[in-house]
Parts: sequence; C-alpha cells; structure tokens
Amino acid sequence: MQQTDFYDPLRQRHPSPDSGYVQSYWTRQLQVPQLPVVTQDIHTDVAIIGAGLTGLSCALALRQRGINVCVLDAVNPAWGCSGRNAGFVLPGTGRLSLAQMIAKWGEDQAQAIYAEFKAGIEITEQHITRYGIECDLQRGGYLKIAHKPSMLKSLEAQARLLNSRFSDPAELLSPDDVQTHYLATQKSAGGLYFPYSFGLNPLKLSMGLANAAQQSGAALYAHSPVQAWQQLGQQHKLHTPTGSVTADKVILATNAYTGTHNHALVEQRHFPVLSSVIVTEPLSETQLAACRFKSGLLAMDTRALKYYYRLLPDNRILFGGRGAITGRGATSGVFKQRLLQALKDQFCGLQDVRVADYWSGWISVSLDDYPRVWFDHTQGVGYAMGYCGSGVSFSQLAGRRLAQAVCEEPLPSLPFYQSTLKRFPLSPFKRMGLWGYYQWGRFQDRWL
Ligand SMILES: Cc1cc2nc3c(=O)[nH]c(=O)nc-3n(C[C@H](O)[C@H](O)[C@H](O)COP(=O)(O)OP(=O)(O)OC[C@H]3O[C@@H](n4cnc5c(N)ncnc54)[C@H](O)[C@@H]3O)c2cc1C
Repeated sequence: MQQTDFYDPLRQRHPSPDSGYVQSYWTRQLQVPQLPVVTQDIHTDVAIIGAGLTGLSCALALRQRGINVCVLDAVNPAWGCSGRNAGFVLPGTGRLSLAQMIAKWGEDQAQAIYAEFKAGIEITEQHITRYGIECDLQRGGYLKIAHKPSMLKSLEAQARLLNSRFSDPAELLSPDDVQTHYLATQKSAGGLYFPYSFGLNPLKLSMGLANAAQQSGAALYAHSPVQAWQQLGQQHKLHTPTGSVTADKVILATNAYTGTHNHALVEQRHFPVLSSVIVTEPLSETQLAACRFKSGLLAMDTRALKYYYRLLPDNRILFGGRGAITGRGATSGVFKQRLLQALKDQFCGLQDVRVADYWSGWISVSLDDYPRVWFDHTQGVGYAMGYCGSGVSFSQLAGRRLAQAVCEEPLPSLPFYQSTLKRFPLSPFKRMGLWGYYQWGRFQDRWL
C-alpha cells in the first residue's frame, strides 16, 4: 500500500498506474478494489477521466439520465485528493470570503452562491443516505477559530452578515465559550461556529460512490491512465497503455492530479499545491481531558497558513496544514515535524503525543480563488477544477452540474458556471511565487 515515488503533476505526464494508495489513517482500513484495466477499444457516450468525488458523482448523475458512462482512473478510485483529505464537509469552496464575493458580484449573487454551497452539503447527505454509505459521520459542527483578537472582529462581521442576510445559524463565540464548550486550545481569541457541518471518512465515502456508480451501470476502470487524446471528427479517442476508449464527450475530473500532458482546455489553468496531514496515536484519558474537544468538532483557524484539525472517532487527532512545495519534498520528515510542533503549540496537554500517520495530497488552486465547472459544447469536453482545498461537498455538486451541462440542462446563473478557468501568467515561476507567499504568510501570522 505504500507509495514509493510521490507524483508531481507539474513534472509528470500522469500518475503511474503502478502507484499504491498513499499510506494513511484512511487506507489502513481499505480493501483495495479489484477493477478491470482497459484492454481493448471501448465505445461509450461519455468518458470521465478521474475517479474521485467529482468523476464518480458525475457518473452517477449521467447514469440517472440513462447515459452510458465509462470512468477511467490512472490508479484507482479516490487515489487522488478524494481519498486523502481531512473529511470536513463545509459550506464552501475556493478561497473568497463572503465580503469578497459581495464586493465582486453583489449581494444577490453572493446569496445564490452561498445557497449553492449549502446544496453541496445536501448532495453529500443525499449520496450517503441514498446509497447507504457507512463513512463514520461525526456531526459536531465546524468551528472557525480566531487565532488572534483582530481576527475576531472579522468573524464578528461575518457572523452579522451570515445571520442577517444569509439566513445562516452560524454562532459567534467568545474566547470563554470556545474554551468551555468547544475545545481547550491556547490559541483562541473566539470563534464562529457552523452547527450543520460534519466530518466523515472521505475514502469510505468515495468507495461508496464508486460502488454505487458501478451498480448504476457505469463502467469503472483502474490502472488506466489516459496518455494521449485523439480527435476523430466529433468523437474523442483516449489512449491508455493497454487500450483505448472512444467517446462522444469527455469529462476531465483529474483536478489537482492533472499531469503535464492533458487537454489544452486546462493547460496552465490551475496550480497544484500540497497540503499535509498527521494523525496521532489515540489520546489517553489525560490528554483527552486536557484538550476537551466537543464531540465530533471540526476546527480550522484564521491564519494565512491555516491549520485544520478534528478528533477522530477512535480519539486520535487529525491535524493538517500547508505541505512542501514540490512532490519530492512531500515525503520529507520536516513537514511532519512542523505539524506536530504546531499541534503541541495549540494544546499544551499534548506534549507527549505521538504521530501514527503522515501523508500529503495536491489541491488545485485557481488564479482568482474560485473554481470553475465548464463544459465546452463545441469540443464536447468539460471539467471541474480549482476548488482551492475545499472540495469534499462541492466536488459532488460539481459532478452533478457537469452531468447537467453534458445533457444541455440549464445550470444556475453563477460565476462558477459562466467562464473558463483563467490562465496563470509566468507559469514556470509559480512555485517560486508560492515560496514567497509562504514566507509572507509566516510573517503575517506571527507579527501582524
Ligand atoms: C490533505 C488534504 C486535505 C483536504 N481536506 C479537505 C477537507 O477536509 N474538506 C474539503 O472540502 N476538501 C478537502 N480537501 C480537498 C478535497 O479533497 C478535493 O477538493 C476533492 O477531493 C477533489 O476531488 P476530485 O474528484 O475533483 O479530484 P481527485 O480526488 O484528486 O481525483 C482525481 C483523479 O484523477 C486521476 N487522474 C489524474 N490524471 C489522470 C489521467 N491522465 N488518466 C486517468 N486518471 C487520471 C487521479 O488518479 C485521481 O484519482 C483536502 C485536500 C488535501 C490534499
């Protein structure tokens, strides 16, 4: 199950079909699926490249419309981000705040976007219920923690806006409220609590969707990376190492794992950035008492370089934050140590805590901080990318919206669905820019 070379989407054409699942807390309980490999020329209506939450949700929605679907993954379902994330189901995607969305598109649009975010959560619930997916739900809500007093002011403004104009029950909490009822962290100046958010095991959710997609008649193939793409009149022929798939339409659901050789529609249109996670050994009774986590709570702070954390059902802490800059750096122990130190800084009662698992994954960042779900009817090709690290709920909605677009059903009139991803300028220097951003972020979080 251990992955040997860490895939780097800015350096490699596609993930290697021989990769194993990354070794993680989630994959410890995984039975690796036995799916067929593409070995001949397969014909289908729609080919979906990538079997993560976006691709699988799209496959399900297309099957509901009676369309033949074939889903190809370079490795296996949920091998990418969908099986590596922290399992926070939140109302949002991208990195724009409500205030930024209002400034950019006006309040009516911002309200419609927020309703769309909530629809992402509803679809997650629907998938879990409809397909009977057991994915260790933890309904403890989500707490955004002000890591310094000045950030509480910004959370206060957000709470006012959410309560008065977005009909959202988000609750502003004082530092005492946080300490007494939510968690005993050293680093809280108060918080904003979203009671309806929940946590889950993302790999179990994804595997449940993969099963449901297969049962609905979608054909799933593993170890079948698309290596070359040929246009044959109105059709597309996707070549894998051992066969090919010919389709009328193609959906790119490769997100941050899109390699260097893919369709021109997505070339240089997003930036893969690493996020890393540690999971501790189960906490002792004393350690649990020292951090006093509200049951099932999800937490994230307001830093520029955010930390996110939750108490898992078996009393381990999952703690995540920024990762290395390149794929080669992802396996370095430095980032694991940094996360562990940050966890100890957060909770003084955890000085002896030990790390059981450490892993990393790529998130897809768009130039203007919000994703796009786009289908080009002339070419018969669509994609959904650029969730900026927040995609567990939105990816499932995006998959459904893509299926609607394929079927020429109208989509809500929202910015996510009305333009293509913007091209990154000075693409070769993106990683240098990221390094600069991290230095600035560290300075800002510490001193400003
Ligand atoms: C550490 C970490 C923590 C995160 N935590 C959260 C969280 O708590 N909440 C949240 O909302 N979001 C979180 N995210 C983000 C979230 O996981 C993603 O937005 C979401 O899973 C994206 O799903 P996807 O289906 O679009 O892409 P992916 O799941 O990445 O799937 C892409 C698939 O494409 C395949 N592929 C790539 N190239 C090819 C090819 N040429 N041929 C065939 N297949 C190919 C890959 O093998 C991969 O399986 C986190 C991300 C990371 C890395």
